[in-house]
Amino acid sequence: MTQQFEKVRALTGMKDILPHESAAWETLEAIVRDWLASYGYRNMRTPVLEQTRLFARGIGEVTDIVEKEMYSFRDALNDEQLTMRPEFTAGMVRATIEHNLLYDRPQRVYCMGPVFRHERPQRGRYRQFHQIDVEALGFAGPDVDAELIIMLARLWKRLGLQDIRLELNSLGQQEERAAHRQALVEHLEKHIDVLDEEAKRRMYTNPLRVLDTKNPAMQDMANQAPRLFDFLGPESLAHFEGVCARLKDAGIEYTLNPRLVRGLDYYNLTVFEWVTDRLGAQGTVCGGGRYDGLLELLGGKPAPAVGFAIGMERLLDLWQQSEAEIKASECDIYVIHQGDEAQRRAALLAETLRDEGYRVLVHAGSTGFKSQFKRADASGASVALIIGPDELAAGHASVKWLRQQEGDTRAQQEMLAFDAIAATLKTRM
Ligand code: ATP
Ligand code: MG
Repeated sequence: MTQQFEKVRALTGMKDILPHESAAWETLEAIVRDWLASYGYRNMRTPVLEQTRLFARGIGEVTDIVEKEMYSFRDALNDEQLTMRPEFTAGMVRATIEHNLLYDRPQRVYCMGPVFRHERPQRGRYRQFHQIDVEALGFAGPDVDAELIIMLARLWKRLGLQDIRLELNSLGQQEERAAHRQALVEHLEKHIDVLDEEAKRRMYTNPLRVLDTKNPAMQDMANQAPRLFDFLGPESLAHFEGVCARLKDAGIEYTLNPRLVRGLDYYNLTVFEWVTDRLGAQGTVCGGGRYDGLLELLGGKPAPAVGFAIGMERLLDLWQQSEAEIKASECDIYVIHQGDEAQRRAALLAETLRDEGYRVLVHAGSTGFKSQFKRADASGASVALIIGPDELAAGHASVKWLRQQEGDTRAQQEMLAFDAIAATLKTRM
């Protein structure tokens, strides 16, 4: 007797995307690729695994991601500490430096795919999720900062999204942040009694992140904290105003959110998020900003850069609220047959139809006509071809239109010679 095998299940927070869901994903991906191409962005693909120290350095030691969310392990074979990418930017910047991509011109690039974070799973928060990550490397802005935001507005419009709004802030430059930091630490020290453990731990290492807290007991303290925006000098303000002016040109509304600091350490100047109230607690669909120091921090020649990441699960969730039916059909033509010989004729016919670019499903197995028709209907095909013994003898197939709407003048069912089918369908479909 074989021992019973205990069923294996997918890991918590890591979802299977099943055939009935993948149509929406593929449609979205196709729209996204067109959209990115229309702004001259080119795809790049970096490995899922990188050295842990890339993320520790690139994202920042004192961040949620590096402190507690990374899937890291030691590769005993090479004695290396590795991490599954929790975001794309660090890997893309590493690749840019490693292959010297900026040697003669700036680069507009994007990645799309899974990233991994060990978080508590809930709606809009998974352990394997997908991002569209877009980076403009070697551009100082503010024109490109604005272009990225305007580009996002175009995508939302293309998808028909509703209730998505833009929040904007500037994190200034290092000296401005240093001055603000001092004032902020003093403020935190004064309110030490309301700080939670995490805040106390971070108040000297990354005080700005303390303001990013979701703890309700700390909101008053955070609201009264000195605002980094008030510490910006004329150059940083001019950059910010440069972005705002271009958004205004494009008719894009925004709100200044002085508490917007983003989860990652490497940002400066422009930061932004697109948020919605339609997704429950996880309402940030896209976050981004400028990170002029990162290339140098990771060992490259200094170069300015700006980019954003979209969470695809959240985007799909929002899109599906406005687009109820993103269901794609399995095929254009479903071929029904009866008898061994008819099946073989059907398979041949299907090949000639595929030559013409049609998506064709030939029914598999010997079932009655009735259940084959049901399958044909469920497949979403617009036409069924039927080959029974009579049709086979006459060299014809019956053609049945499955999705006729009112006013459609095509005969519901007709006979066509095998060698005329492809040409005739072309004029009718
Ligand atoms: P949050 O504040 O929601 O944790 P974050 O600041 O960690 O977001 P980023 O690192 O900026 O998020 O990632 C970019 C986008 O990826 C987010 O705006 C969000 O749409 C999406 N995202 C982040 N974490 C998750 C997750 N665990 N599951 C699904 N989507 C996520
Ligand atoms: Mg997070």
